[in-house]
Amino acid sequence: MVEVPSVLPNQSCGDCTVCCQHLIIDAPGFTKLAGDLCKNAKPGCGCAIYAGRPKPCRDFLCSWRLLPLPEEWRPDRCQILVIPEPEDVERGIKHGTKFFFFGRLDRIFWRPFIEFVSALIAQDRQVYISIPGDHDHCAHMLPIYPAPELKQSIASRDYAAVVGVVAALIQNCRDTPFDPVVFKNQDTAGPLSRDNTKRKTGLHEAYADADFSAG
Ligand code: SF4
Ligand code: SF4
Repeated sequence: MVEVPSVLPNQSCGDCTVCCQHLIIDAPGFTKLAGDLCKNAKPGCGCAIYAGRPKPCRDFLCSWRLLPLPEEWRPDRCQILVIPEPEDVERGIKHGTKFFFFGRLDRIFWRPFIEFVSALIAQDRQVYISIPGDHDHCAHMLPIYPAPELKQSIASRDYAAVVGVVAALIQNCRDTPFDPVVFKNQDTAGPLSRDNTKRKTGLHEAYADADFSAG
């Protein structure tokens, strides 16, 4: 059974709008591509209709809202969206924690990220690494398979091994064609995005020159 943690009382979204921009929404009457900021999101003050926001939004909580993570882990601050990944038997997905790099890829060198991932692996928790696709494409997600050598490296605090594994997974994601988005609910509503035409460069194209050798 998937463990559903409670929302932490002192951890609110504030003016973060990361999920409102970087996730695909595909619900009846409410569709949106990833990368497009929802028209209800107001930069600097969050969701303009927060109390009456649609069900998909009410149902979504990132791990920063659920876990006792420090302020630096709020997604707009750390540039990593951490999401509890539910079990999906059909897709062969185990319950775990997903780290979605919607922004800068050099965040894989960020020490709190490396320590967080290492702690999860040390506790035999499933970890996923994900990057966004181009504008009208889905994100990629790959699991970390904790080989015994990786666990040994974590036990001896050799975090370079963890960075190497994460970098290799991101490279795999980049080398694999991204699936185009096919909305199940496209006919029920137009995209609820502010502008779907101006964002022509996919984030993964920007990652093409990322240098993983630093750090
Ligand atoms: S990404 Fe998390 S903190 Fe940011 S708006 Fe969404 S649920 Fe709130
Ligand atoms: S309606 Fe949903 S996606 Fe849009 S700003 Fe509000 S919470 Fe974000």
